[in-house]
Amino acid sequence: MVIAAIAVVAVLVLRGGPATSPSASKQTTTSTVTPTPTPTPTPTPTPTFEKTQFSTTDPSSDWVLVNKQNPLNPVNYKPPLAPLGLPGVGGSMRPEAASALQQMFADYKTQTGSQLTVQSPYRSYNTQVSTYNGWVTRLGQAQADRQSARPGYSEHQTGLAVDIDTAVSQAFGNTPAGIWLAQNSWKYGFVVRYQQGQESITGYEYEPWHFRYVGVPLATELQKAGFPSLETYFGYPAAPNY
Ligand SMILES: [Zn+2]
Repeated sequence: MVIAAIAVVAVLVLRGGPATSPSASKQTTTSTVTPTPTPTPTPTPTPTFEKTQFSTTDPSSDWVLVNKQNPLNPVNYKPPLAPLGLPGVGGSMRPEAASALQQMFADYKTQTGSQLTVQSPYRSYNTQVSTYNGWVTRLGQAQADRQSARPGYSEHQTGLAVDIDTAVSQAFGNTPAGIWLAQNSWKYGFVVRYQQGQESITGYEYEPWHFRYVGVPLATELQKAGFPSLETYFGYPAAPNY
């Protein structure tokens, strides 16, 4: 009798065990790895995104807002850096931006068979001096200010911005790489910082090659809500000029 009861219990445990535990463990693993397939049929209210949780003025914040009205403070700020080790010019970015970029490049290669190229990642204050002066020599100051930042005013100096592709032309936005990046970069925490038609707000012409790391939560928020610029999202005044 006792043996029979134990046997029944054992059968129940065996039946119950495999039916519940793998699906439970599967749910937890999938939700941490890929957020795409959501099996929940009930719509859950989205929690309000806290847009003041990080500083937009501290240069060490992933949310720092730099434009022609908001220079880095201090003006010669230097971020912590990690080497990229990616095709292109080499160079470095803030560690969190570097690993996000590495992942994005790897996934792009896996999905398309092609390779992205780093044209310009972190640039120091001193590098920006020569970059900007080079543009002024070539184009004059007015046109240089439309496409290159003055030293201390460049997102590249934060270590959070990167130019992708060697052409650095607006036509890049219509190439397979440019389209893929515009559609997917937010998943890695990047945004197209200078979007089409936003020059009067951001101070820069459309730059489909310039990506700014802001972290996945904010990039997702901006993508979902369709905000065209950080200025608009954070309620900063337009910064068309110095
Ligand atoms: Zn750039």
